[in-house]
Amino acid sequence: MKISEKIADYIAEEKTFYSFEFFPPKTDFGMDNLYSRIDRMASLHPAYIDVTWGAGGSTADKTLEICKTIQKYFGLEVMMHLTCTNMAVSSIKKILTEAKESSLFNILALRGDPPEGSLTWEKHADGFRNGVDLVRYIRKEFGNDFFLGVGGYPDGHQEQTDIDIDINFLKEKVDAGSDIVVTQLFYDVDKFLLFRDKCIKAGIKVPIIPGIMPIHNYGRFLKFTQFCELSIPDLVSTQLESIKNDDSSVINFGIDQATTMCKKLIEEGVPGLHFYTLNLEHSVSEILKSLDLVSSRGISKELPWRQSTLGDRKTSEDVRPIYWSNRPVSYLTRTESWDDFPNGRWGDITSPTFGELNQYHAIRAGAKSDKVKARRKKIWGEPKSIKDIKDVFVSFCKGKINSLPWCEMQLAQESQQISSNLINLNEMGFFTINSQPNVNGAPSEDAVVGWGGAGGRVYQKAYLEFFTSKDKLNALLKSIKSTENISYQAINIDGDLITNLPENSVMAVTWGVFPGKEIMQPTIVDTRSFLIWKDEAFGLWMSDWASIYEKKSASFKLLKEIYETYYLVNIVDNNYVDSNLLKKLLNHEKA
Ligand SMILES: Cc1cc2nc3c(=O)[nH]c(=O)nc-3n(C[C@H](O)[C@H](O)[C@H](O)COP(=O)(O)OP(=O)(O)OC[C@H]3O[C@@H](n4cnc5c(N)ncnc54)[C@H](O)[C@@H]3O)c2cc1C
Repeated sequence: MKISEKIADYIAEEKTFYSFEFFPPKTDFGMDNLYSRIDRMASLHPAYIDVTWGAGGSTADKTLEICKTIQKYFGLEVMMHLTCTNMAVSSIKKILTEAKESSLFNILALRGDPPEGSLTWEKHADGFRNGVDLVRYIRKEFGNDFFLGVGGYPDGHQEQTDIDIDINFLKEKVDAGSDIVVTQLFYDVDKFLLFRDKCIKAGIKVPIIPGIMPIHNYGRFLKFTQFCELSIPDLVSTQLESIKNDDSSVINFGIDQATTMCKKLIEEGVPGLHFYTLNLEHSVSEILKSLDLVSSRGISKELPWRQSTLGDRKTSEDVRPIYWSNRPVSYLTRTESWDDFPNGRWGDITSPTFGELNQYHAIRAGAKSDKVKARRKKIWGEPKSIKDIKDVFVSFCKGKINSLPWCEMQLAQESQQISSNLINLNEMGFFTINSQPNVNGAPSEDAVVGWGGAGGRVYQKAYLEFFTSKDKLNALLKSIKSTENISYQAINIDGDLITNLPENSVMAVTWGVFPGKEIMQPTIVDTRSFLIWKDEAFGLWMSDWASIYEKKSASFKLLKEIYETYYLVNIVDNNYVDSNLLKKLLNHEKA
């Protein structure tokens, strides 16, 4: 959708919004990593994500592809950058038509920087000269189909000696139909405020959003600021100079400096902040936390899982099986062609398209390259024993590594609350891949477990999912079988199913009670979809993990043995009031 409404809502509620800008990585592995990063950063609730257009149009296909993927699979609104560099009008038309067909309705219209290696910007023979020409063209050719942004320059554009002339050109871009101005990075807040005053005086009425690039690295900071000819306050220069050779001090300084800037900008009434993330996560997360902007947006989570932004899916999907909680992209792909998301009960697993994962594999195509294999080996090591496997799972629960084949993102915040128990379970040989603690009527505004809007109460049954050996499963079942509050399903790769749930049953494991609404039950345990999840979950031992080693290696053989002999188990404690599921599991050997 167009982000105009969203921005208007923030402004009406006097809440500061923020956007994150990413650039297309050069390698497939980088792309894979970027998606995980965006997925994690989505929990910071940006209003939208920007994806840049490579200098000289070098990343055209990638930019479009990334925008489509983020919007479709990560449930985030996207603003795609588009420049005139090396672009004939016909190519621009083609790109915009494809964007529109893909429901990408937000464009940052720019002239562009010179391509790598050129010092001056050259107009394409059949192209546009300035940003304003692109804005005019889009409005003429596409009417109001797109929400349009343009670039503004608080320090003046590097090719322009007179800031007032630059602002007149900016006014032309706004008059031509742009809805928002996003500024170049700057480090001098007073300069930004002067620029904003001048813009308002010149008659620019659309929101002007300051661009913030936290300083991550001294060398890079010098390169950017010199290229864009930015003025640096003396205090920033002197403080940086004294720590320039100490990378971690520079990062910390960058966080403090950007936080101070943002605080002042918010006090001065800017409606939003645009973060140039440089595809990095830490600094922006820390700045937002210091500004206390994140938790207040957390309240707006409509469902416990992130919704897709597209079409019917956005408005009518209100329930999902719990199994895919840590692999949302896979789930969305499997159910992509569903045209119906039934109210209150989960959908049609008999749909012939449910098993298709083509697109998903396409966006994670990097998984097979040698570089990816090397990188994964670095993260997951070369396990030679069950103890080594335990260590990988324990490292994940301790936050030392960020991914497992089953988890595309780090341990969920709510699971972090029970991480010490999860660590103990993994050490006992229960390799956990999904969990949620019990919740009994927490306020729906709760920053960690809340969802569904204000004034409600939310509930969860404790849930745990893991792989374990047949011996360990037998011992566990012996101790919990007599407990009537526990529901369980266990299955191996050959389909040997051990369960106390009725066939084809569906059980809510997360539900909420809200003023003026029926009870909502967005997350379920569904016995039929478990059988489909089982194939994916077992398959990942081989496709994502074993495949990074030589077939003759001890690591490959060990993982294959686990794949062939272990059971995938999920356990639900139906006593959501005072569950002691984890304690029970941890102590079952003594029982
Ligand atoms: C928020 C933001 C995001 C960006 N993202 C990207 C990106 O993804 N990819 C990328 O390659 N670059 C990006 N850039 C950089 C941008 O492309 C460069 O700064 C470029 O040099 C100027 O683009 P513009 O659209 O602002 O240019 P313009 O508005 O065309 O201005 C360029 C120069 O021409 C002058 N000028 C403007 N209009 C006229 C006119 N009618 N007649 C004569 N002179 C005129 C201006 O004063 C200025 O000096 C981004 C910049 C910003 C602020």
